[in-house]
Amino acid sequence: MDKITAPRGTQDVIPPESRRWHELESAIHDLAGRFAYSEIRTPTFEATELYVRGVGETTDIVEKEMYTFLDRKGRSLTLRPEWTAGVVRAVLEHNLLAQGPLKLYYIGSIFRYERPQKGRYRQAHQFGVECLGYADAAADAECIQLPIELLTRFGIGGLRVELNSIGCAACRPAYRDALLDYFRPIAGQLSGDSQRRLERNPMRILDSKDLKDKPHLAAAPTYLEHLCDDCAEHFATLRGHLDAIGIRYAVNPRLVRGLDYYTRTVFEVHSDALGAQSTILGGGRYDGLVEQLGGPPTPAVGFAMGLERFLMVQEQLGTVTAPARRGIQLVALGQAARDRLVPVLAGLRRAYDGPAEMDYGDRKLGAQLKLADRNGARLAAICGDAELERGILILRDLETKQQREVPLPGSTGIGDLLTAIGEMASAPVPVS
Ligand code: ATP
Ligand code: MG
Repeated sequence: MDKITAPRGTQDVIPPESRRWHELESAIHDLAGRFAYSEIRTPTFEATELYVRGVGETTDIVEKEMYTFLDRKGRSLTLRPEWTAGVVRAVLEHNLLAQGPLKLYYIGSIFRYERPQKGRYRQAHQFGVECLGYADAAADAECIQLPIELLTRFGIGGLRVELNSIGCAACRPAYRDALLDYFRPIAGQLSGDSQRRLERNPMRILDSKDLKDKPHLAAAPTYLEHLCDDCAEHFATLRGHLDAIGIRYAVNPRLVRGLDYYTRTVFEVHSDALGAQSTILGGGRYDGLVEQLGGPPTPAVGFAMGLERFLMVQEQLGTVTAPARRGIQLVALGQAARDRLVPVLAGLRRAYDGPAEMDYGDRKLGAQLKLADRNGARLAAICGDAELERGILILRDLETKQQREVPLPGSTGIGDLLTAIGEMASAPVPVS
C-alpha cells in the first residue's frame, strides 16, 4: 500500500526538535509577560470576508495564498493566513477596548498557499503582538524592542533592523498621485499583477518580487518625501526612542509591507544567515484597521515573527545548545527487580522535580544505560537480583561516573532516595 505523507509545505516537529520549540515558546511567554502582554487565542479559521476586508483585496495573501473552502452549509471560510485581522475581530466581538489600551500576543499557525522552499511553508507558525489604543511612538518602539530582546536572549546577533514610514490617510493621496505619475508611463513594462494593481492600489507594486518590476522600483518616489508633518514628527520621535533604547536600525525608504492595513511605521528584522528568506519578522502601525473592521477609531501597532525562521537562524548561527543532563533512569535487571521498582518510580514521579523513567522491557544493563543517555538522564539507579537481596540500589552519576549505594526505598517512602539523588545530581560536572 502507498504510504501517506504529510501535505506539501507542512512539517512534523519530532523529538528532540520539539524541545527547541518548547524553549522558544516558554521564552516568548516569559518575555511577553515582561512587556505586559496577555495571550489571546483565536479560531484557526474565520469568515473569508474578514481577511478580504482586513488584509486587503489586492494583496498577495488574499489574491493567491489563502486556503479558502465552503463548509457544508455553503459558508466561505478561510484558514488563518495571519493573526492580526482575527485578533481585531475578537477584540471587537468581546468589546475589549472598552477599558482603554489593550496589549495582546499570540503564538500559533498560519496557512498560506505558497511555493514551499527553505523557510517558506504552507503551514508555518508565528509569534506576534498587537498593541491597541496607543498613537504614541513609544508603542512602536516597544514593538521593535520586544522581538529584538527575544533574539538577543537566544544569542542571535548580526541582525538588520529596517525602518520606514508609509504615512497616513492624510498624506497618502498625494503619495498615491506621485506613484501613479511615475508608474503610468511605464505601465506596459510592469508585470501582469502590477498592471492590474496600478489603478486600484499602486502602493502594492512597491512590494512586488517580480523580476519585471524590480528595475522600476528603485527610482519610484518614496513615501518619506511625502509625509505630512504629523507623520514626519512621529517617525522622528520613534527614531529618537530607538536611539535612546540602544537599538540600531537603518531607514529603508523602499520598505513597504505585504498587507494593506499598515500606516506610518513599518519595520522588518533580517538575518543574513537565512539566505533568500531573510526576514525573521515584520510589523508596523495600523491605525485604520480597527475602524475598517467596524470598531471605533483606534491606533494600533504590532509585529509578527516566523518561528520556523527564528529556529533556522538559531541553528545557522550555531547558538543551539545541548540540554544539560537531567533526571533519573531506573534500571531494573529482571522481572523481580522491575516489580519492586514500580512503586519507587511512581513515588519519584510524584515527589522528584525532574524526569524519572524506567525501561519495562528485558534489556541488559548496557542497553538500558544507553536508553538513559538517549533520555538525557543525569543519574541511573540500578537494581538486579543481588541488589534486591541486599536491599540496595546502586546510584550512578552518568556524568561523573561516580557511584554509591543507597537503601532500596521501602514502606517508609522515598525520602532518603530523594536526598541521595539531590546530593549526587548537584555535584559539579567536570569540564570535558
Ligand atoms: P515574506 O516576504 O518572506 O513572504 P511576509 O511579508 O509575507 O514575508 P508577514 O506576513 O509579515 O511575512 O509575516 C511575518 C513573518 O512570518 C515573516 O517575516 C516570516 O518570518 C514569517 N512567515 C510568513 N510567511 C511564511 C511562510 N510561508 N513560511 C514560513 N514563515 C513565514
Ligand atoms: Mg509572503
